[in-house]
Amino acid sequence: MSDTYLELVNGPASAVAKKLGLPRPARLRRTDPTSVDAPLTPGPVLVLSDARATADADTVAQDLLAWDLDVRRDTHLGEHDRWGAVVVVLTGLDHPAALSGPALQLGSMLRRLATGGRVVTVSRSAPAPVPAPTADDATDPAVAAGRLAVDAFVRSLAKELRAGATANGLVLADGVAVGAASVRGGLRFLLSARSAFVDGQLLAVGTDGGAVPADWARPLVGTVAVVTGAARGIGAEVVRVLARDGAQVLGVDVPAAGESLTAVMNEVSGTALQLDITADDAAERILAAATSRYGHLDIVVHNAGITRDKLLANMTADRFEDLLAVNVDAPLRMNQTFAVPGTLGTTGAAPRIISLASFSGLAGNRGQTNYAAAKAGLIGMTRALAAPLAESGGTINAVAPGFIETDMTAKMPPLPRQMARWTSSLQQGGLPVDVAEAIAFLASPQAGGINGQVLRVCGQLVAGQ
Ligand code: NAD
Repeated sequence: MSDTYLELVNGPASAVAKKLGLPRPARLRRTDPTSVDAPLTPGPVLVLSDARATADADTVAQDLLAWDLDVRRDTHLGEHDRWGAVVVVLTGLDHPAALSGPALQLGSMLRRLATGGRVVTVSRSAPAPVPAPTADDATDPAVAAGRLAVDAFVRSLAKELRAGATANGLVLADGVAVGAASVRGGLRFLLSARSAFVDGQLLAVGTDGGAVPADWARPLVGTVAVVTGAARGIGAEVVRVLARDGAQVLGVDVPAAGESLTAVMNEVSGTALQLDITADDAAERILAAATSRYGHLDIVVHNAGITRDKLLANMTADRFEDLLAVNVDAPLRMNQTFAVPGTLGTTGAAPRIISLASFSGLAGNRGQTNYAAAKAGLIGMTRALAAPLAESGGTINAVAPGFIETDMTAKMPPLPRQMARWTSSLQQGGLPVDVAEAIAFLASPQAGGINGQVLRVCGQLVAGQ
């Protein structure tokens, strides 16, 4: 599963593609599994802020210094140097007009942004579209306008960046300090190669919860995770990345995929469990396997999924119902066990549940009424279970991949497949590892302040918000 076009335009066909004005996607800066010591950013990090956020910017700069980064507060750069990242702290915005200073300063730096560079904003949350009666987010119209201005500013900037650079933001609820574990964890994730295919996204940090790990390279040491649909594609990569980050992993897949499941789990010295997740007792069997082998279970990744694409006019009952059974009924039923306090995280690690939604579940997709409905259903489930999970010190989130190069998408006809790649800001499909990195971040202790959210890993696909 590779993108031949991307290889060609980064090789022999580079000049032709330029002449014809064809998309020229960059090779993305990804984690090098052979070198955990690779630098976090490909050059120095500039920290900018709005006029009222200098103290917060100082805090952020101190945190970045602790990671041995070359952190700068002034815009001077050596003649041949390039910025590895620009972090823009906008927690003081009280009016949209206050955005222009830092925005223009950032703009004047962009020509010197490195290949695979990063822009990350840190701002405060605006009122939700349907505010809860008790919501304490900014209600002053000018403050709310300033805060929401950051949202579309980041999304627009992401569409302008080139050479595999990305722009994303962290959006902090009022009361969450810029030094909170999940702000630091989120910043580190978004600056690093782990977020290669996350672009144009605003990630909400709702609480000060979570903890900075003892070892940033292995934040999951001591945890036990289960991944469904682990025999291939995204699930297999999730197994590898969770294991790399220190977790012990149980992989689940249907008996028909037993051989490849065993091969994947052997790679990480994990445990293979042949099981159809639509079985009534799936959660109990997973829990029994994890506790008998490892003594506990902390992280659940609901990854198994199927497609049964058809226009609704041609849809059959079995295609619609089979899809719902695997993609949403099974996670809903399993969570009746996993989300009960005292089930996950019994030896001290915080419970984590992460589901694989999809951009289709946010934007809708032709031929996928069944799939999109199921994936949106998972997002509803995630929101509903956020409060109960928080009560037991845990979180539940979803990841929404865009177009990812797997067996599932290899089934698409060539032209729509190429169009799906080109309609993202990064002009290419993602790799399973990109989704796996986002899941591993949400599973980590440093993501404990992020709950009930959907993180898109889509290269900023044009479809959906
Ligand atoms: P894939 O088809 O390559 O792998 C899915 C795995 O799930 C397979 O190993 C399959 O055997 C397993 N599985 C299916 N039904 C099962 C069941 N009843 N019980 C246990 N295991 C079962 O798919 P993928 O592309 O790796 O996708 C993984 C997840 O990501 C899915 O939920 C999918 O909907 C989602 N997703 C994928 C993309 C993409 O572009 N590939 C985009 C958005 C969302």
